[in-house]
Amino acid sequence: MKKTVLITGASRGIGRATARLFAHEGYQVAINYHKSKQAAQELEAELTSEGCTAMTVHADVSNRDQVFEMVDKVLFSYEQIDILICNAGIANYGLITDFTEADWRSIFAVNVDGIFHAVQAVLPHMIHRKAGKIITASSIWGLSGASCESAYSASKAAVIGLTQSLAKELGPSGICVNCVAPGATRTDMISGFSPEALEAFRMETPLERIGTPEDIAKTYLFLASSAADFITGQVISPNGGYII
Ligand code: NAP
Repeated sequence: MKKTVLITGASRGIGRATARLFAHEGYQVAINYHKSKQAAQELEAELTSEGCTAMTVHADVSNRDQVFEMVDKVLFSYEQIDILICNAGIANYGLITDFTEADWRSIFAVNVDGIFHAVQAVLPHMIHRKAGKIITASSIWGLSGASCESAYSASKAAVIGLTQSLAKELGPSGICVNCVAPGATRTDMISGFSPEALEAFRMETPLERIGTPEDIAKTYLFLASSAADFITGQVISPNGGYII
C-alpha cells in the first residue's frame, strides 16, 4: 500500500516542490492550500496526469476547525496519514517598534498555532497505529534570529521547541518528530529581497548559492524515509553552510 503524506502549504514554493517529489517517489500526496486554489489544482492535475496519486485539500492552518476537516477528508480518501509535513508559513518584515499586535499574532497563528492544530488533528490516528512521522518547518532565523524579522524568528524558534517536546512525548508511541530549518530559498517568500541583498546572502554562503525548493524537499523526503527511522527531535538545516 502506498504511504500517504499530508503537506500543508503545498500550493507554492517549498511545499509545492515537496508534493512533486513525494508523488514521484510513490507517495499518495494531499496538497493543502489556503488562498492559491488554482495553483494547487494545477499541481494535482499535473501529478495525476503523470500517474501519481494526489488530492487537494483546503484549509487555513490557523483555523482549527478547517484543519480538522482537512485531516478528516484526507483520511476518508486515503485511509491513513503516514507523514505530516507542517510546511505552511508566512513572514513579515519590519522594525519591532513598528509591529502591530495584529502583525505579531498573525505570524504566530499560522507558523505555530497552525502546527499545533495539524498535529492534534492527526495524532489520534497516528497514536492508534503507533506509527507516523511529523516534520515541521522552522528557519535559520529560528536558530540565529534575524534583524527586522523578530516575529518570524520568534515563531520559528517556537517551532523548534515544539518539535523537540513532541519528539520526547511521542517517541514511545512510535512517532518521529523532526524539524527542517532552511536557509534562504528561492520562493515567493523572499521575492521582496533586492537582487543585491540576495547576492550578499549568496556570497556569505559557503556553497555560494541560494537554496532551491527542491533542496528543501529532499530534506523532507529524507526525514520521511526509513533511512531516518532512528532520528527524532532533530533540527536539520539545509542552508549551504550559512550557519555552521
Ligand atoms: P511561500 O512560497 O510563500 O509559500 C507559502 C505556502 O504556505 C503557500 O503554499 C501558502 O498557501 C501556504 N500558506 C500560507 N499561509 C497559510 C495558511 N494560513 N494556511 C495554509 N497554508 C498557508 O513560502 P516558502 O518559501 O515555500 O516557505 C515554506 C516554509 O518554509 C515556511 O514555513 C517558511 O517559513 C519556511 N522557510 C522558507 C524559507 C525561504 O527562504 N523561502 C527559509 C526558511 C524557512 P496559499 O498560497 O494557498 O495561501
